[in-house]
Amino acid sequence: MKKASIKSEDYQKYYQQLILKKVGIPGQKKIFRAKVLIIGAGGLGCPLILYLAYSGIGNLGIADHDKIELSNLSRQVLFTKKDIGKYKVLVSKKFVERINKKINVKIFKERVNKKNIEKIAKDYQIICDGTDNFKSRFLINDYCMKNKKILISSAINKFDGQLFAFNFRKKTPCFRCFMPEAPSEELNCESDGIMTTLAGIAGSLQANEVIKSILNIKNHSNGNILIFNALDSNFRKVKLLKNPNCKNINLHG
Ligand SMILES: [Zn+2]
Repeated sequence: MKKASIKSEDYQKYYQQLILKKVGIPGQKKIFRAKVLIIGAGGLGCPLILYLAYSGIGNLGIADHDKIELSNLSRQVLFTKKDIGKYKVLVSKKFVERINKKINVKIFKERVNKKNIEKIAKDYQIICDGTDNFKSRFLINDYCMKNKKILISSAINKFDGQLFAFNFRKKTPCFRCFMPEAPSEELNCESDGIMTTLAGIAGSLQANEVIKSILNIKNHSNGNILIFNALDSNFRKVKLLKNPNCKNINLHG
């Protein structure tokens, strides 16, 4: 493989990744140029940020309004006890900069809502949903759909995880096709519990999907849900169908 057009230090640093035929120097350069937004720097966002930063993603946006609490430290692997009380986005940014100063990190210290999502997400091609509530999930899904973004989303509860990948530049179902309305009693990790390692698995799977999308590797995950269980180590891929009752049916074409 020619060393051409990549810096010697980067060549050495990413050597194991770029000697892969499906990556190569052109692929690594795509990763350097990529713009990825992570919404939620929590249990999913932390491993996601970690692996995207180590992969060499050139531009990372991180949106989260929360401060670090003691109860976060069992899952949120970018933070330690001395970070308690600090904003997650600020500590995440510092972490990324320690890994790689070249990564352009933009932080948004706000809860993503209807009013600010366009401002936060417009510059990013790939959006990762690492939030923990249905309101945000629907908002992000609808925004990505309208603006033809790639959405990589994960949800975790107890021992179960789900991974969704939607490339809205192509024909694909959406999250609302799977779940038209929020369940009446919202399930969340505070009330139901969550296995520490499951957050790591789900966030890492999201990072993997991001890299595949950037490299344009034939994405068998598009429009599928990957359902996995941390106890029986079972992974099941389910093809999601367009739901005729989806609220976004006019956008599905
Ligand atoms: Zn839909």
